[in-house]
Amino acid sequence: MNNVYGINLIPDNDTERIAALERYQIFNSHREKAFDSICELACELFSCPISHISFLNADTEFIKAEVGLNGLQYVSRSVGFCSVAILQPDLLLVEDTHKHELFVNHPYVTDKLRIRFYAGAPIISPDGYIIGTLCLIDTEPRSLTEKEKKLLRKLADVAMEQTQLRFDNLSLLQQRDEFIAIASHEMRTPVTALKAAIQVLHTYQDGPADLQKAMIEQANRSVNKLTYLVNDLFDTSRLAARKYNLEKTFFDIGELISNCCDFVKVSGKHELDIEGDLSVQVFADKEKIEQVLVNLVENAMKYAPDSLVILVRVHRLAEVLRIYVTDKGPGIGSDQLPHIFKRYFRSENGTPQAGLGLGLYICAEIVKQHGGEIGVESEQGLGSTFWFTIPMTA
Ligand code: ADP
Repeated sequence: MNNVYGINLIPDNDTERIAALERYQIFNSHREKAFDSICELACELFSCPISHISFLNADTEFIKAEVGLNGLQYVSRSVGFCSVAILQPDLLLVEDTHKHELFVNHPYVTDKLRIRFYAGAPIISPDGYIIGTLCLIDTEPRSLTEKEKKLLRKLADVAMEQTQLRFDNLSLLQQRDEFIAIASHEMRTPVTALKAAIQVLHTYQDGPADLQKAMIEQANRSVNKLTYLVNDLFDTSRLAARKYNLEKTFFDIGELISNCCDFVKVSGKHELDIEGDLSVQVFADKEKIEQVLVNLVENAMKYAPDSLVILVRVHRLAEVLRIYVTDKGPGIGSDQLPHIFKRYFRSENGTPQAGLGLGLYICAEIVKQHGGEIGVESEQGLGSTFWFTIPMTA
């Protein structure tokens, strides 16, 4: 790259550096008060007429915020001071441009801005890439005390924190939008099926009993699906609002398991085997533990449709009760396992299933609230074992 400095302005790690910058989605973004305020503060603190926050990509310096530059937004990398400042992990301090060989003939020094003093502190990402600078500019030569240098570096750190915060907010908003899109899509399918069933029932009020029965069954399935989705949404919002109080009682774990999983038999497609230490009494929120168990068994049915047997095993250990739900389904890829309990996570493998990626997240939250742990072991092609623990009170 030809540049006014006549030196190499491209650091060895420039590709990775630009990738780090792009992650923050800040280049070309609108002006934002928080960044302007940092520049205003810098001008005040250092009694300086000009301050700016810049981010540098492959060929352009983008000025995200500034005081004293009349709304200037872009400077070519071949000219910008920032291009030199990012070459070193510490402050670039030019006390007098007229005495600095790199800057003495710079166009911003000889005409235009008449810059005499420049101090640029690097904005460094947590993984160590210099993505931009926080700069002070004056038309008079000057110097900085050690304390002032420290302060300027600190302000650059604040600019980085603000960049991170802005990005986290952006990600949350994107995640929320994505979630709303998925949720409405998931709800549209059963609503459409329900509408169709009602329409058929309405049109053929005296129609054959078979048809009526089929339509009522379809309507029923759709309503169940909707209930399932709405319940997940409701649980999630309650979790977010931390309005989940546990109502603990003593109950028999074996009894709970055999009572709550009748739906497996009813489906006619799977067998439920229950084994282990079934006569253990636990002290927990019965409804919530049932919810976790039902969710894991339902997932086994949903995501392992060809696994004839679903095994629920209870193992009493010294301090916890461990409950396993095993299927012989397609399993879960090792790349997906770390994400499986995260909110909104849905695997894209296999046949698409109705779901919002909330079930396991809700299970994990319930188990955590009980002071237990949740996990999964799975091998692709062999099946999955989900497990959770309930602490045993002495
Ligand atoms: P949802 O509420 O949408 O069913 P979950 O949080 O319960 O979502 O599950 C998240 C993802 O985990 C699912 O999209 C599915 O891919 C995977 N998963 C859950 N249980 C199993 C299982 N028993 N076998 C294979 N994959 C599973």
